[in-house]
Amino acid sequence: MADTRTLFQKIADGDIPSDMAYEDEHCFAFRDIAPQAPVHILIVPRKPVPSLNDLTEADEKLVGRLFTVARKLAVREGLAEGYRTVFNCGPAAGQTVDHIHLHLLGGRPLGWPPG
Ligand code: AMP
Repeated sequence: MADTRTLFQKIADGDIPSDMAYEDEHCFAFRDIAPQAPVHILIVPRKPVPSLNDLTEADEKLVGRLFTVARKLAVREGLAEGYRTVFNCGPAAGQTVDHIHLHLLGGRPLGWPPG
């Protein structure tokens, strides 16, 4: 049978190696393979929602969870000076993996507006 799991589900299952930073029953977080800042962690719900456009009201608590995990990780990673959280949505915004994920970036000055 075809493997319908997303790339990030394969990471959660341990079938693709990762540097895991956090796990609970709702979500997991691991270091980005191509970090754009000294700290670059992806926080991913276990539910494979493809993108922000596919979220429903039933997912509101889950999305909130991603942000509270980001805050915990920011403390743990020593990002007291500040950090950024980003959802890329759609190809024009640079989304490359169709399993919603919150980027946590920090450890260097982050320019604004972003590219
Ligand atoms: P996005 O471009 O917003 O869809 O983000 C996808 C992110 O996944 C990119 O920053 C990639 O560098 C990252 N990525 C892709 N494959 C892996 C992997 N095997 N392990 C960790 N991060 C990955």
